[in-house]
Amino acid sequence: MVSTAIMFFTDSHCHIDFIEFDDNLNNLLQKCKKSNIHRIIVPGITAKSWPRLLKTCQLHPCLYPCLGLHPWWINKASQSDLDTLENNLHQHKLLALGEIGIDGGIEDIDKQTHFFDQQLELANQFNLPVLIHHRKSHHLIVPILKQKQQQQGGVIHAFSGNYQQAKAYIDLGYKLGIGGTITYERAKKTREAIQKIPVESILLETYAPAMPISGHQGEHNSPLMLLPIFEHLCQLRVEKPVNLAEQIENNIEQLFFLNESNTLT
Ligand SMILES: [Zn+2]
Repeated sequence: MVSTAIMFFTDSHCHIDFIEFDDNLNNLLQKCKKSNIHRIIVPGITAKSWPRLLKTCQLHPCLYPCLGLHPWWINKASQSDLDTLENNLHQHKLLALGEIGIDGGIEDIDKQTHFFDQQLELANQFNLPVLIHHRKSHHLIVPILKQKQQQQGGVIHAFSGNYQQAKAYIDLGYKLGIGGTITYERAKKTREAIQKIPVESILLETYAPAMPISGHQGEHNSPLMLLPIFEHLCQLRVEKPVNLAEQIENNIEQLFFLNESNTLT
């Protein structure tokens, strides 16, 4: 067991605005604070859910809002949602644009690609990094990112690929969101990839309430699971835990321009 008493952590991808967390949010955030999980980055998924997300983040300073149109709900998205997104980007200080991406497991790749492309453009226009969702879609996403050249890069959330795929993103300047996948023995290729990548490319995330870690299948995931994920990461890496945690926090601060003078409102 790694002692995490002197380390700080950021959950770089947690849907804490979802109703699953409604009943117990204050209590849960207190527990996060006690566990030194001092920041939670909250990705947006649909235009309809953005106001609630922004309100939740305004109430709790440890929550950092991002807005975006998630590929799973693109079938219902319209051009006016992109206009609303642009208005929101003018009005609110956001950490990143996301989550956006292409999911190869669902239909309408053309519409997903269009919205991905448009949102990458917006991110460049507002000088923001992006949170990218992938599933069975590395072959679709990598060429687009190569062509687009995002000024502020971003993170490939819930990375679950092999080393070659990891390297393709890292070479383009992206960081990888490392979560519950590495807690599963069967994820051999991803675990091997995470052993080999530069430490500067690593972010931690829970993806809660989705993606329960090994041993907790069938339960809602929680941002508190960031610590067991970190322990699994420590087993895969050569760095001392304290150095690893510090470097990951540096990665977060660098990618999202987080420092003491940049507090979001
Ligand atoms: Zn997500």
